[in-house]
Amino acid sequence: MKENTDVLIIGAGPVGLFAIFELGLLNINCHIIDNLDKPGGQCIELYPDKPIYDIPSRVRITGEELTSALLKQVEPFKPVFHLNQQVEKIKKNENNDWLIETSLGKEIEAKCIVIAAGAGSFVPRKPPIVGIEKYENKSVFYSIRDKSIFKNKTVLIAGGGDSALDWTNELSKFSHVNLIHRRNEFRAAPDSVNKMHELKKDKKLNLIIGQIEKINQGNNKSLEVIYNHQGNINSIEVDFFLPFYGLKMELGPIAKWGLNINENLILVDTQKFETSVKSIFAIGDINYYPGKLKLILSGFHEAALMAQECFKYCFPYKKNVFRYTTSSKELKKKLGV
Ligand SMILES: Cc1cc2nc3c(=O)[nH]c(=O)nc-3n(C[C@H](O)[C@H](O)[C@H](O)COP(=O)(O)OP(=O)(O)OC[C@H]3O[C@@H](n4cnc5c(N)ncnc54)[C@H](O)[C@@H]3O)c2cc1C
Repeated sequence: MKENTDVLIIGAGPVGLFAIFELGLLNINCHIIDNLDKPGGQCIELYPDKPIYDIPSRVRITGEELTSALLKQVEPFKPVFHLNQQVEKIKKNENNDWLIETSLGKEIEAKCIVIAAGAGSFVPRKPPIVGIEKYENKSVFYSIRDKSIFKNKTVLIAGGGDSALDWTNELSKFSHVNLIHRRNEFRAAPDSVNKMHELKKDKKLNLIIGQIEKINQGNNKSLEVIYNHQGNINSIEVDFFLPFYGLKMELGPIAKWGLNINENLILVDTQKFETSVKSIFAIGDINYYPGKLKLILSGFHEAALMAQECFKYCFPYKKNVFRYTTSSKELKKKLGV
C-alpha cells in the first residue's frame, strides 16, 4: 500500500530530525527514512557518549542526549519513521508528486524530498570472501532484525567490536555460538569482553582465534566456513554466519538521481537549499556550497530556510506568514504549550 505525505526526509541524523520541526511549524507533515535501526545519524552511530560543545545554548551535550532532545522536540508533529531501509528509487507520479521506493519495497508519495543523508548510508563492511553474496540474507547476515531465527541453531559470529560481542553474549542464551576473531584483543566495551570470556570458561561459547578464508555450501548444515588458525587450515559447519565488521558510509542510490553532485556532495543554492532538481532539497553534511561548514548548527539553519521553500510546493495557494514561536498563539497550539 502506498503511503502519502507532504515531505519525505531521507536521513534521520540531527539535521533530518530538526527539519521535521521546522517543517512542522509550517503545517507540513513528514515521513522520514533511515537505513539504520534508530534515529540520530553520526551522533548515535559514531559518538553517542562524546560531549558536543558547540550546539547553541547547550554548554555540553552528548550525541545521544542531543538525539533524544531532538526526538522530544518533534513529538508534537507526529513524524512517521521508516527505519532499517534505504531509499532506492525516486520518480514522478501522474500528479507530478514524487514516488519513493525503499529497499524493503515500501512506496511513499510526497510533494518534496529533503535529502539529509550526511555522508551517505551507513552500510555494513563485508568480509572479502569470494561468493559470499549468494548466501546473503539466507545464511549470512550483517545485522540482526529477528533474533528468534537463531534459536537452537549453530552460529558463527565474526568480529571483535561491540556488535560482534553484544550479539555473541545475547545469542549464547539460546544458540550454539562460535566467535571468530583474528587476534586475542577485542575492541568492544570491557564489560562485554569479560562476559564473553566467562561464557567461554563455562563452555557456552567456542572462541576461535583465526581468519576466515572461504565459505562453501555445508554438508550437514547450510555453510562450511574455512579458516586459518596460526597457519593451520580448519573448518566448521554452521547454520548461520554473522560477520560484524562495523559500518562504512556510501552515497548509494542518491548518486544516480541526476542531481548535480561534486565529490559525493550535492550542490545547493544558499537561499533555499534546493538541488539542481526542483522540489528536491539537500541539507546537512550531504550538501555543498561555498563556505559550507560541516557542523550540526549549519544544518539546523539550512533546515529552516529549506522549510520556507517547501511551503510553496506544499501549499501553492497559501501565503506563508512569518511567526515567532515566543509570540504566535497558533505555533504554541501546534507545540502543545
Ligand atoms: C567523531 C565526530 C565528532 C563530531 N563532533 C561534532 C561537534 O562537536 N559539533 C558539530 O557540530 N558536529 C560534529 N560532528 C559532525 C556532525 O556529527 C555532523 O555534522 C552531523 O551528524 C551531520 O548531520 P546530518 O543529519 O547531516 O547527517 P548524519 O548525522 O550523517 O545522518 C545522516 C543519516 O542519513 C542516513 N542515510 C543516508 N543515506 C540514506 C539513504 N539512501 N536511505 C536512508 N537513509 C540514509 C544515514 O544512515 C544517517 O543516519 C562530529 C562528527 C564526528 C564523526
